[in-house]
Amino acid sequence: MAMREKLPDPTSGSEPLIVPRREHCISRSLIDPDALKILYRLTRHGHTAYLVGGSVRDLLLGRRPKDFDISTSAHPQEIKALFGNCRLIGRRFRLAHVFFRGGKTIEVATFRAISEFGAEEDGLILSDNTFGTPWEDAFRRDFTVNALFYDVKNFTVLDYVGGLEDLRNGIIRCIGDPSVRFREDPIRMLRGIRFASLLGFDLDKESARLIQASGDEIWKGAMPRIFEEIVRMMGRGTAAKAFSLLENMGLSRVLFPEIEEHIRRDGVSPYLDLLGRLDRIYAKGLEPGPWLILSCLFYPLFDAGRRSPLEKDFTHLAREVVDEPGIRLQIPRKIQDRVRQVLAAQVRLSALGAGRSRPGTLIRKSWFSDAFRFFELTAAGSQNGDDLVSRWKELIGGADGKPREKEKTRRRKRRGARNRKPVPAK
Ligand code: ATP
Ligand code: MG
Repeated sequence: MAMREKLPDPTSGSEPLIVPRREHCISRSLIDPDALKILYRLTRHGHTAYLVGGSVRDLLLGRRPKDFDISTSAHPQEIKALFGNCRLIGRRFRLAHVFFRGGKTIEVATFRAISEFGAEEDGLILSDNTFGTPWEDAFRRDFTVNALFYDVKNFTVLDYVGGLEDLRNGIIRCIGDPSVRFREDPIRMLRGIRFASLLGFDLDKESARLIQASGDEIWKGAMPRIFEEIVRMMGRGTAAKAFSLLENMGLSRVLFPEIEEHIRRDGVSPYLDLLGRLDRIYAKGLEPGPWLILSCLFYPLFDAGRRSPLEKDFTHLAREVVDEPGIRLQIPRKIQDRVRQVLAAQVRLSALGAGRSRPGTLIRKSWFSDAFRFFELTAAGSQNGDDLVSRWKELIGGADGKPREKEKTRRRKRRGARNRKPVPAK
């Protein structure tokens, strides 16, 4: 489609495809009532305001959106004036966070003229502070399916970019020329893979080709966002699929060369198996934290090393497995530490009853419950594994490990009582 090859002139006034209520499935009852309140208040005060991004995409697919973002013609100060429970964030491009009971935050942004990361330098977008029209706001987004708007005024869906057709056909397609869009923001390569695996869609041919050809460009993106996108793509119930896609697109070679090397030797199935288990946890309603995702990613490599007759020191082995990717991906130190502890603990957890194992000491460690959670994940399904899990549960003192928590509080209280200073009378 010509429109996608080259962005049309913003002044050309191109009109969106408008889909009336009877032709789409978005009902107001599916939208967060607080997001509706914001949309109504903005429109009552004469502003244009749309539900945007992932929420419209997910609602149209019959999925439950993770969050409800809003874009509006109102400028940040105007948004702030309308909502008492609101804070402006960001230095250059200010956007508003509107707060509600229970810690809920809804993001309200003014329509932007260019991509989120702003003025170009060598094709790379670095910062952004330009407000724009709804049309521009649609075109600065990453993929067509992420650029649909829902207008609460007349319950229509607005499509400036051909997103509805791609949604119907299951395609993740860059808005505009993918080579330009990936150069502007290389993290979009990871985002493309994330959405393709999350929704079970295909990447459009040209984007897929570019990712395969120039995955190394990812390092030109902002480092913390690389790690963030990896966690997001593995933490929503489709980690195994995301990992396969990273593999097929040659990105795991770039992001995790050590894992890639291991896969070449031993095959990919230990990774897919473990990530599949992680996905089943998500399906049961538990959202895995970054430490659990990374433990799944690094465990097969650790496990292979552990079986090597040369390796004796498991703490050292865990360090070896985690340190390099930790530096490369700038994984926060606390998370690295936890993953190392969890990996090393697996050896001691599986050695219950053997040698000099001291279960009591282990159970009291601050990382024990995470390590045990991971152990349950890896052990499930094998006779020996299931036996070990139940024996540990007996030792812990109950299926949910609660007594250990009680013990911790008791100890803390006693220590607290000893150290307590007299409270001055008011
Ligand atoms: P999720 O449901 O996982 O939150 P999402 O589509 O809401 O998915 P976000 O990362 O929350 O994704 O971003 C919200 C929206 O902002 C996207 O739908 C997209 O329109 C836009 N966006 C986010 N990141 C970029 C980017 N790097 N380049 C262009 N547009 C982006
Ligand atoms: Mg979102």
